[in-house]
Amino acid sequence: MPKLTGQCLCGEISFEADGDVPVMANCHCTACRQSTGSAFATLMFMKRDDIKITGTPKTFEHASDAGSTMTKHFCSTCGTPLFTQNSSREGMLGIRAGVINEPQEFTPKANVYVSSKMDATILQDGIPAFEKMPG
Ligand SMILES: [Zn+2]
Ligand SMILES: [Zn+2]
Repeated sequence: MPKLTGQCLCGEISFEADGDVPVMANCHCTACRQSTGSAFATLMFMKRDDIKITGTPKTFEHASDAGSTMTKHFCSTCGTPLFTQNSSREGMLGIRAGVINEPQEFTPKANVYVSSKMDATILQDGIPAFEKMPG
């Protein structure tokens, strides 16, 4: 995986990431739809230590349906959603893949929470779809 870079719409927050991306998925849960304003969220979970962030995102915490604490990181100037954190994935940070400058590197391996996907969202063939979060 080559280095990933990205920034918010206004450029106040940027990042460079270099390392393994063990989780790449599209999430169709209601919280992801609300927090991104999109039909689904595109996620690349990496070690927090592999991501160097410039600027300070604003954060918002909420509880997931599984009881863990979710933290959304976004630009307080332009509102771009950048990262998401799940207290049950210690030390990991999820990059919202829509913000990366290397879009060809996002190759989702699964669709999760398809139980709450929008009817208009068509799922790709060839990768698994899970009603909720697997495992
Ligand atoms: Zn911004
Ligand atoms: Zn989600």
